[in-house]
Amino acid sequence: LDGKRVIGVDLGGTKILAGIVDGDGHVEHRREHATPVGSQDDLLAGLDQAVEELLDDRIAAIGFGLPSPIDQRTGRAQQAVNIPLDASIDFRTRMSERFELPVGIENDANSAAYAEFHFGAAREANTMVMLTLGTGCGGGAVIDGKLFRGWAEFGHMVIVYDGIPCQGTCTGRGHLEPYVTGVAAAKLAQDVFGPAVDAHRLVRLAGEGEPQAIEILDGIGRHLGAGIGSLVNIFNPDLVVIGGGFAAAGDFILDPAREVVAREGLAGAGDRVRIVRAELGTAAGLIGAALVAFDALT
Ligand SMILES: [Zn+2]
Repeated sequence: LDGKRVIGVDLGGTKILAGIVDGDGHVEHRREHATPVGSQDDLLAGLDQAVEELLDDRIAAIGFGLPSPIDQRTGRAQQAVNIPLDASIDFRTRMSERFELPVGIENDANSAAYAEFHFGAAREANTMVMLTLGTGCGGGAVIDGKLFRGWAEFGHMVIVYDGIPCQGTCTGRGHLEPYVTGVAAAKLAQDVFGPAVDAHRLVRLAGEGEPQAIEILDGIGRHLGAGIGSLVNIFNPDLVVIGGGFAAAGDFILDPAREVVAREGLAGAGDRVRIVRAELGTAAGLIGAALVAFDALT
């Protein structure tokens, strides 16, 4: 990419991560700011500042990873759950005009999937899907080397008809998300171990061999496997990557998921697919946003 550099910005509910990224995925000048959530104007001002302090003559484009479904046709964030950003502004055009550079925008989980595909756990894969398990459950897919630029809201796949209510502002029921997140794990753990136990403590207890903790994670893993099994039957990926903070549960959830996927996958796909943990950690969103910026150059 001719030594070009771009700015990647990963906008989260609590922090803005920004950095300068080269074509090999190396991050320089990584910066972190608290996300201003008072109003949309405050939020935009915070993003402007995060970009401005990194901007120089070498920067060819800017990419933003946003915690919202994106309408790529209009360049708008459709409905962010945790931050004051909505479809009333043409985000992409607004940023492109302000900084006089090409701008790409993408959903944060899609960005993370793109980064893992190029530089992380899926760098040998041709088709991959990713699920991020944190407070919520995000998804992304790269198909035959191309990032799927649609919603990919895999956390809102219906896995149980009329099942438990979804999380956040989602009014659906039986979606994958309320069965597999860190929030879901904490809720199940608190029923057994008391109100002070969170998802991290649950995973620690499982690591110490506590049978009820292992059983809770096993149940979460089986629901995760149901979701992954459906994704395998749609995309037939080489690899499924699990990221986000709750991926720290590791094989306590991934082994039962693998068992379910082996059973549910069509034509042997469930036995062929590998299910692994993400490798890029918290940098994935920023690096993926940078990749979206590089794509905006072409
Ligand atoms: Zn939902």
